[in-house]
Amino acid sequence: MRLLAALLLVLLPLSATAVEVLASVRPLALIAAAVTGSAGSVRQLLPPGASAHHYQLRPADRIALARADLVLWVGPAHEQFLARVLAGQPRLLTAQRLPGISLKLKRRPDGDSALPGTVDAHVWLDTDNAVVIARALAEALAARDPSRAALYRRNANAFANRLGTFETREAQRFQRLRSRSYLAYHDAYQYLEPTLGLNFRGSLLSGDEDRPGARHFLLMSQRIRKEGLYCLLGEPGFDQALARHVFNGLPGNLVTVDELFAQAPLEAGGFEAGLGRLSAAVYRCLGGQ
Ligand SMILES: [Zn+2]
Repeated sequence: MRLLAALLLVLLPLSATAVEVLASVRPLALIAAAVTGSAGSVRQLLPPGASAHHYQLRPADRIALARADLVLWVGPAHEQFLARVLAGQPRLLTAQRLPGISLKLKRRPDGDSALPGTVDAHVWLDTDNAVVIARALAEALAARDPSRAALYRRNANAFANRLGTFETREAQRFQRLRSRSYLAYHDAYQYLEPTLGLNFRGSLLSGDEDRPGARHFLLMSQRIRKEGLYCLLGEPGFDQALARHVFNGLPGNLVTVDELFAQAPLEAGGFEAGLGRLSAAVYRCLGGQ
């Protein structure tokens, strides 16, 4: 009996204080799953693959937000619809505001210049940013759940090591490609460009996701012909007819990529799985096997 009581004392603090993380979108939920491992639980606010650029909160979302021990979101640049609801929320981790996070400006659809005063929201595609988020989350969890502090930090370190391996491997692989120039349906891959050595040559949608005019499509068509571009990265459900129109009879690899890692399982290795799939799609688009 005394043994059982002692055993319970050892076990109880661990199981009783498991922290629940509510992440806005899949990539952040996957980072959280890497940090918590089998401890704690991670939930995701937006359904997998739902675009945060056009999301409307449901009543159930508001309840989930109010109940969460810790909310992890990219920030107003990505989930504008959350900005008002989360104002004053004390248990909040805002990725775009973390010290050490590197932010890029949105670009004009011709890719030739940036849009001042903007933030490109796809911050998780920079592996260094993903590690910054993981480490900040480990510290936030450690503060709420000190009994597992070492575990969270160890998991964040392991995550950083795995992404380091990914980066080295992919940088080498992409070096063999003849061309690394690409077009995007919507300009989402900027943060991945340094890792893969990609050369952005324009997007079909503008930075705020509206359709630019006919003049822009003509410019893109001319560029495709002149520079021999053939890789266009589109997201699920992108307008293929528009893309074909812009390629104007020239062969284009119109490859669908999953910037939101919707297909990746919500588990510790899920982030690398999502990033690996995305990278493999880009590789295929650029003519690699
Ligand atoms: Zn996007």
